[in-house]
Amino acid sequence: MKNAETASALFESIRSCTICSDLPLGPRPIVQFSPTSKLLIVGQAPGRITHNKGVPFDDPSGDRLRSWLGINKDTFYDSQKIAIVPMGFCFPGTGKSGDLPPRSECAEAWRNKVLDEVKNVELTLIIGRYAIDWHLPEFGKYTVTDAVKSWADVWPKRLILPHPSPRNNRWLKQNPWFDQDIIPALQDRIQTMFKDD
Ligand code: SF4
Repeated sequence: MKNAETASALFESIRSCTICSDLPLGPRPIVQFSPTSKLLIVGQAPGRITHNKGVPFDDPSGDRLRSWLGINKDTFYDSQKIAIVPMGFCFPGTGKSGDLPPRSECAEAWRNKVLDEVKNVELTLIIGRYAIDWHLPEFGKYTVTDAVKSWADVWPKRLILPHPSPRNNRWLKQNPWFDQDIIPALQDRIQTMFKDD
């Protein structure tokens, strides 16, 4: 019970965070977690559309991610089961070549506090360079493709995924081993994790 209260107080503190006062659209932290979450999904930061909706992965990237996991939206958005904790909780704005990096203030202020509250996590899905650098710094020397390919080195506690965006269709076509080897193992693991829920 104490954990649930702490997690919910932390959640409320994050929701009212204004550390990055210069964000182009203002702070709107988007994060979900609870002390019982078994799966932790670590992405980069919300994009503009997610900022407007206030819901993470409610888009074609999320549809693909859910199909990789073999779960529906009800399970995906159930914080009792799944934590979604990106490297930055607010939309960082757009630069010349796409969205800006997650705000570094966010991990400094919140990351360890949130991770301390999700002690039941059995599997962490790591998506993108910033998530790799924070959660698996030893993979910093690898390209994302090589990091994903080295999945056996971190499985079954962690798994590095390519971004599920439709922009990565070409990558998925060029790397058929991802669909053939990694996705079936991931789906088996998810089924086992949630079989009693
Ligand atoms: S990005 Fe993180 S640190 Fe910055 S305002 Fe949002 S929640 Fe706060």
